[in-house]
Amino acid sequence: MRKLTVSTLALAVAVGAFSLAGTSPAEAKKKFISIGTGGPTGVYFVVGQSVCRMVHKAAAEGRKTGRKHGIRCSAPSTGGSNYNIGQIKEGELDFGVAQSDWQFHAYNGSSKYKGKAYKKLRAVFSVHPEPYHIIVGGDSGIASWKDLKGKRFNIGNPGSGQRGTTEVLMQKYGTKTSDFQVATELTSTEQSKALCDGKIDAYGYTVGVPNAGVSVATDGCGAKIINLKTSVEKGLVDANPYYAFATIPKGTYKTTDADVTTFGVMATFVTSADVDENVVYEVVRAVFENLDDFRGLHPAFKNLDPKLMIKNALSAPLHPGAVKYYKEKGWM
Ligand code: GLU
Repeated sequence: MRKLTVSTLALAVAVGAFSLAGTSPAEAKKKFISIGTGGPTGVYFVVGQSVCRMVHKAAAEGRKTGRKHGIRCSAPSTGGSNYNIGQIKEGELDFGVAQSDWQFHAYNGSSKYKGKAYKKLRAVFSVHPEPYHIIVGGDSGIASWKDLKGKRFNIGNPGSGQRGTTEVLMQKYGTKTSDFQVATELTSTEQSKALCDGKIDAYGYTVGVPNAGVSVATDGCGAKIINLKTSVEKGLVDANPYYAFATIPKGTYKTTDADVTTFGVMATFVTSADVDENVVYEVVRAVFENLDDFRGLHPAFKNLDPKLMIKNALSAPLHPGAVKYYKEKGWM
């Protein structure tokens, strides 16, 4: 009897081993995908959650119709754009949301990616516009970049897109970290609270409009968003395809009593050339077949237009899994 149990167990182990061997580890791993986002009060987090929601919706429909993709998706909160690109490169994340400027620099080996071009970075689609905001305390007296001198300014956590874009502005304005009274490295979630608690005077944030994080500071404690439209920003927009002027409309937040003009980027969805073509195809299909639902999940998504999403603000080559779907739809 005992012998039988052991051999039954041995058989079960052997069968188990056999069936595991039948699925290549890469295939098994790719059934679970992870998407890098940003801080939990930003818009990237909603992008990641929404993509996963569409992937799971397509999975549920597929179980009824027999068109199964078998993908399970998670979208954890992360440090933001450059963190996501770095983790995709390491193979730790399959997809990520990243600012169009950092997609450009990572692929082309420019700016902070000088000498470190990531040629396997692949574009999937672009999402919402992200104006670069400088948010200042209501009574801080800060009305321009130059007024930040001697103030406590949050330059952002390393790995965030706004940290990179703030460094570009600092370089263009000739501002050094030591020109600020303090340059803090708070995350996007910490910065609004710090501003309202009087621990900092201002912060820089590249983010979709509107969003919960910014409203904590504007609606919560009277913080304001300032204009950035000097010759410095004009120079940046004129010289670089990934920047454009952007307007934060009057009335967006309680303290937005006039349109705010600033420059900005686009949020983009990226992956690696090493991610399986079928996985990218299924994710893209799930999003675009359910784009109406997707648009309803955040006000920043309401104007998403597939024809623009597949070409605007993308500087890395499109992943072949995405191209396959866009061609099927006749969009390419
Ligand atoms: N643009 C920010 C970044 O790249 C993230 C904005 C968001 O979380 O919505 O880090």
